[in-house]
Amino acid sequence: MRAILAASLLMASLVHGGAVAAECPPGALGVARTIVVDPREHARIGAMQYNETLPLNDREVVLTFDDGPVPRHTGSVLETLASECTKATFFMVGQMANAYPAMVRRVHDEGHTIANHSQTHPFTFSRMSVPQAAAQIEGGFASLRAALGDPDAVAPFFRIPGLLRQDSVEQYLAAHGVMTWSVDVVADDWTHINAAEIARRAVSRLEARGKGVLLLHDIHEKTAVALPVILQELKARGFKIVHVVPTAADRPKTATTPEQWAAHVPERGLWPRVVVTDMATSAPALTVPSPASFGVADPSGLAVAVSLVPGFDQAPPHPGEVPPPPVAPWPRPNYSAPTAAGSFAVPAAQNFQYAHVFAGPRRDTTGGAERKRVASSPANGVRAKASNRPAPRVTSPFGGSRTASPPRLFGHQL
Ligand SMILES: [Zn+2]
Repeated sequence: MRAILAASLLMASLVHGGAVAAECPPGALGVARTIVVDPREHARIGAMQYNETLPLNDREVVLTFDDGPVPRHTGSVLETLASECTKATFFMVGQMANAYPAMVRRVHDEGHTIANHSQTHPFTFSRMSVPQAAAQIEGGFASLRAALGDPDAVAPFFRIPGLLRQDSVEQYLAAHGVMTWSVDVVADDWTHINAAEIARRAVSRLEARGKGVLLLHDIHEKTAVALPVILQELKARGFKIVHVVPTAADRPKTATTPEQWAAHVPERGLWPRVVVTDMATSAPALTVPSPASFGVADPSGLAVAVSLVPGFDQAPPHPGEVPPPPVAPWPRPNYSAPTAAGSFAVPAAQNFQYAHVFAGPRRDTTGGAERKRVASSPANGVRAKASNRPAPRVTSPFGGSRTASPPRLFGHQL
């Protein structure tokens, strides 16, 4: 009986063998939704360089792979994507497509979007003439269409090699109905970092931004190795994958609002925040502080909490004596209650100056070598404070932290 059951299972697997790749395992990442975009309405996308990016919801990610195809690594990437039943956009180089047309067809047949990354991937797009750029752009489209044998199979999406943009090239692309794709998030997989670091940067940066178009390269083995980790981590963190396709005669654009395309939404919760209360109000008149201002005066009038006045130093113990317990540096209790509920003196301007406590001893030129604590001038104090102000930092639950500024680009290596 058991043998019969095993045989039937084997038969079932053989019968369905050809469709295994199309079957999604339980819990696969999948594709949360497919959005249809019209390049004529949104010519440039990608928060790293433009004011618009794809209209993603929070925790939605678009996967993109550049520079391929390379059969070995592109094939590995395709297998990983298929194992999670998810889809990506491949920005391919024309001469790579000419060399490996079968791989271009495979990427397309597995349901991914084929897009253009120029004919030969020159790193001169930012300074070449429009006719030169046009030759690269049209050459790339021609090679991809030839590999697929179907002009409509290539999306009118173009990513400039190295992201080396210039206005004239973008205008050419827009005039020809081609959407220029920059990126929202990079994982630096073109630099000398390993697969684990690629995965960490990809996930932590998506986590920090909350969503985005992720740039990877399917020509690197380490990227292919990192991809399963990236997808597993995104799945565990509740991210969803969005597939992007262009409009067609039978495929209307996804309904969106202009606000959804905004790449740079002012973030809330950052520090410092300026709270405007009333612009018409004149300069405020501060009152003189009283002991109550510092929480000294108890309503009952019987207790005193703390004092801001430094206490006396403890006398050193005599030889053989047990030293008294250390005195807490702050706050120190002050057992002498204020004599009356009177007011403190009005603070003077110098009360708010910065004291340069680390300044070295200054020799008195008039004679003695007396060491002084030197207070810096207000100008110096302010300048030193400003220059030492740390950059805002965001913490990453994936380990480590970084400044909130976007990662530095190495344009000639993209
Ligand atoms: Zn590239």
